[in-house]
Amino acid sequence: MTFPPLREELRGIEPYGAPQLDVPVQLNVNENPYPPSAECVADIAEAVADAATSLNRYPDREFGELRAALATYLSSDTTQPVTPEQVWAANGSNEVMLQLLQAFGGPGRCALSFAPTYSMYPEYARDAMTEWVVGHRETDFSLDIGAARELILERRPAVVLLPSPNNPTGTALPPASVSKLCEAAGDGIVVVDEAYGEFRRPGVPSALDLLSEHRNLVVSRTMSKAFALAGARLGYLAADPAICDAIRVVRLPYHLSAVTQATALAALQHAPALLARVADLRAERDETVTWLRAQGLEVAESDANFALFGTFADRHAIWQGLVDRGVLIRETGPDGWLRVSIGTAVEMTAFKDALVDVMKEQA
Ligand SMILES: *Cc1c(COP(=O)(O)O)cnc(C)c1O
Repeated sequence: MTFPPLREELRGIEPYGAPQLDVPVQLNVNENPYPPSAECVADIAEAVADAATSLNRYPDREFGELRAALATYLSSDTTQPVTPEQVWAANGSNEVMLQLLQAFGGPGRCALSFAPTYSMYPEYARDAMTEWVVGHRETDFSLDIGAARELILERRPAVVLLPSPNNPTGTALPPASVSKLCEAAGDGIVVVDEAYGEFRRPGVPSALDLLSEHRNLVVSRTMSKAFALAGARLGYLAADPAICDAIRVVRLPYHLSAVTQATALAALQHAPALLARVADLRAERDETVTWLRAQGLEVAESDANFALFGTFADRHAIWQGLVDRGVLIRETGPDGWLRVSIGTAVEMTAFKDALVDVMKEQA
């Protein structure tokens, strides 16, 4: 055996890593460009100080107060109220989805998604010893529901992962499509990953509305994007209480620290102010899409806080040219495409100026 005795299938694999380069304009990992407000920071600090007085004790294992607060927040974004028993949370929605794969995947079972999609999904499947099956999206990045249904019926996945809006394309999935896929999945779990749910355009519903119709539906959310809390690591889901209950078997003891719970609870109190910022970002996104199209570029329809645009014969050269001008975006998605996260108005101006410059140089 070679040292260290890594599992055979993990040898030579690079760990996840979007480049963390120290450049002035960072538009590469879909973060919210606005830090929490001074009031929000003060409330978090107070809540954490309070939690610190009892850090000798393990935290509330079932995080009851936080579940209730998340249920209240979700209920404001759907036609039917969400109850605390329908909510589960973990350290980022990445951990939530890993737990789903640990609970419902496993040897002899498979997980399925449709490419291009979030690059972490196959990693959760691998880590949970679950076979990874991937279908494909259409050229406009939508899903052909007939073909998707057939693939699900053929492969019978234990877990289907459907990001909506999708990363890296920004494409939202219509509720009728989600319903059809939930039906096709039978007893398999269908996860609609709404990490960017709050950024969707008016008239685009959340899959939360469908929870009462499909007991195998899981809607995943995160505080990392709209809530400007990527550093705190808090993701959560809404689903049938039986699903939340089942996850408790695989979670690590006391997985959500008292500090995390206090931080998330304090931040949730500021939801209205944070969502007002989201509205600004949505407007900035729509402007960015329009501007990119005016440059003669192709841009995917986006319901998220980023835009996928192209196509470039040498996308790496464009990416590098932007880095050289102090703007970091993401080289991801199908060949020829690039993804830019939506930043502040000042950051987007820097991005546009740099892109015009790079495209001139490359022409
Ligand atoms: C950013 C993102 C998440 C969120 O991850 P966290 O672990 O909650 O920070 C989940 N799904 C997708 C598709 C994402 O792009």
